[in-house]
Amino acid sequence: MRRLMRAALLVVFSLLFAGCGFDSPAPPPETGVTVKVLDVGQGDAVLIRTPEQTVLMDTSDTGQTEKLRAALRREGVRRIDKLIITHPHRDHIGGTATVFRACDVKAVYDNGQPTSTNVYRDYLKTIQKKEIPSWTLRDGDILDLGGGATLHVLSPTQEMVDERGMQNGRLNLNLNSIVARLQYGSFAMMLTGDAETPTEEGILARHAATDIRCQVLKAGHHGSKTASGSAFLRALGAGAVIISCGADNEYHCPHPSVLARYEKYEMDYYRTDRNGTVTVKTDGKTYTIEQERGQKNDAGAES
Ligand SMILES: [Zn+2]
Repeated sequence: MRRLMRAALLVVFSLLFAGCGFDSPAPPPETGVTVKVLDVGQGDAVLIRTPEQTVLMDTSDTGQTEKLRAALRREGVRRIDKLIITHPHRDHIGGTATVFRACDVKAVYDNGQPTSTNVYRDYLKTIQKKEIPSWTLRDGDILDLGGGATLHVLSPTQEMVDERGMQNGRLNLNLNSIVARLQYGSFAMMLTGDAETPTEEGILARHAATDIRCQVLKAGHHGSKTASGSAFLRALGAGAVIISCGADNEYHCPHPSVLARYEKYEMDYYRTDRNGTVTVKTDGKTYTIEQERGQKNDAGAES
């Protein structure tokens, strides 16, 4: 179930995007699913490739777009079937202009919660100008990613968006991040944007344990102590967690107490500041995780 929002459904992509592709595109895997948590500094960009589709969830920060562009080029991504923006903070939406320039984006999905920043306004303008179909995602929606892969949206609800992410009288856009569970065969990965503990608790309240268990978690909110609550981690039962964060970032993510919690629940953790791009590959039964550099479970205590 999907909801049509701002843009009209017109198909003029090939002309609009002619001449902006990369040289030697690597096709999506014929079998299996690959998820890359890209090393894009302090921000998120997660590239999902199924046997049929290429999906990008978030686009890094405005200052990291060269890293994102290089990663997309390296991966041979010319077409993005689904661009998903978990929430409109700059470290997730910042690279959208770069993505729209570099790739043929077939459809855009977001949480429909507006904000007043220039980068958000430009994002909306580009979607309109390029006439890209755009949709809002809500708890219960299921996206077909092709080849047997599906994305099950677990948050936000319409009610959460209507309340505008208010927390203790303050607006917190993180709370309404799109949270979704990628499913391929018996493998599942939880993708969280910047969802914080109240969002996690809502998911636990609304969903059966079988709907949220997964092997791998993309850490919510860059490993901040506002996310990765004990109840959520226990319910997920994941064996590994990937944290997207920048080296020596000003927010001091990931928080040592969160790393300790991952260890308590026997989760191997990977972090993009120390491990570079982290790649999960699955055949639908088993999975592997590769890091570009360093060792897993590197707490970075020396820094
Ligand atoms: Zn963020």
